[in-house]
Amino acid sequence: MKKGVTIGGIISCTAIFAYLLFIAHAVISTSLAHRIKEREYFKKSFDVLHKFDQERSFGLTRVLPKLSTNSYLEDHEKDLSRDYAYQSKRENATLLMLVRNWEIEGALKSMRSLEDRFNRKYQYDWTFLNDVPFDDDFIEATSAMASGKTFYGLVPTSDWDKPSFIDEEEFESNLQLMHEKGIIYGGSKSYRNMCRFNSGFFFRQTLLDRYQYYFRVEPDVQYYCDFPYDPFEIMRKQRKKYGFVISMYEYEDTIPTLWDAVEEFIADQPDMIDFDTNSYDFITDDSMIGLEMPIIQSNSNYNLCHFWSNFEIGDLSFFRSKEYLNFFEHLDQRKGFYLERWGDAPVHSIAVALLLRQDEIIHFDELGYYHIPFGTCPAAHSIRLRQRCMCDPNAESNIDVKAHSCLARWWKSGGGKYFMKHT
Ligand code: GDP
Ligand code: MN
Repeated sequence: MKKGVTIGGIISCTAIFAYLLFIAHAVISTSLAHRIKEREYFKKSFDVLHKFDQERSFGLTRVLPKLSTNSYLEDHEKDLSRDYAYQSKRENATLLMLVRNWEIEGALKSMRSLEDRFNRKYQYDWTFLNDVPFDDDFIEATSAMASGKTFYGLVPTSDWDKPSFIDEEEFESNLQLMHEKGIIYGGSKSYRNMCRFNSGFFFRQTLLDRYQYYFRVEPDVQYYCDFPYDPFEIMRKQRKKYGFVISMYEYEDTIPTLWDAVEEFIADQPDMIDFDTNSYDFITDDSMIGLEMPIIQSNSNYNLCHFWSNFEIGDLSFFRSKEYLNFFEHLDQRKGFYLERWGDAPVHSIAVALLLRQDEIIHFDELGYYHIPFGTCPAAHSIRLRQRCMCDPNAESNIDVKAHSCLARWWKSGGGKYFMKHT
């Protein structure tokens, strides 16, 4: 009896033990499978986010989402593969913002808008530049807002400050005069540093060395419509070097001798300029266009047309070229960045109009955009619906067909008007 109980006990204990073992195995292998899947997911996310950045060793990276349930995981896998289709097409490009710490709110607004309308799908890097170090709040908030990696650069003082060949007394008295005349930013020193930096130094910053294209973004701007394409891809495929959305007349009081300096450059470097293919007419033609266009009040052969550079997509290799460097150096020696108040917009515009072929400049007609006080909004109702635009083409701020816009001149003497084929 005792023996029977013992044997029976051993048998049932073994059975229970085997059963427990089975359950434990099942539990362990299920959780193991789950963990393997989870790890694969992390690996996949990691690969997707970093596949194209492998050689990059610094920068803040995006925090991966924390997983909780399987359905969440599957949703994310779907999202990830959908995004992957865009990310795998990414060009060698960065979004670029020169900005001050106190402009954080405006910087975030612009980022929110561009991420929503374009970048969340592609996750291009953001590069921020500043003449003083960015503070932690700025870095934290902009990194959280970016879908791509973020990089923060400090501009060396040699690329920012007034050069020593500017006479201090002449500088101060010119500033005073321009301030008294009510010229916009006429009395500002930092604005002059900014304009000279954007004309001659932004593309020399080491953080930009690895990129071919940049997309300039400013605080407090809005992108009105979903981007119907990746503008960087258009730039590469169509061999464009400079892209704009708004063009208008410059205030002549800010650039009284700029055109003289340009004419000297043309005379000095005739080999660099091909009048058969460039956009010289676009910046010099001053005939009447349409009924509304005023006769341009210009004292030189420059008609004052320029591309508004707060929105700008460019090929950095153009700015790094010996032609552009030569052009900038020539202007810089003429001292107008400080003794007058030359803006980077007319400087870039005149350079691309002279040095590039007309077909290397592109007007991004479909991308609605606003920077105080002007905007551009696609005129076609069907485009506004397809791209979910939030703008009114008849709004007072919409500049495209107003008298102070140069767009009609671009259609007449520049690249013309054409319709982009969508792929
Ligand atoms: P506006 O568009 O001509 O009225 O000029 P903004 O004030 O918008 O300046 C043009 C761009 O340069 C913006 O992205 C500004 O954030 C930036 N900026 C202007 N001045 C400075 C400056 O002193 N330091 C830095 N870091 N950025 C500046
Ligand atoms: Mn601005």
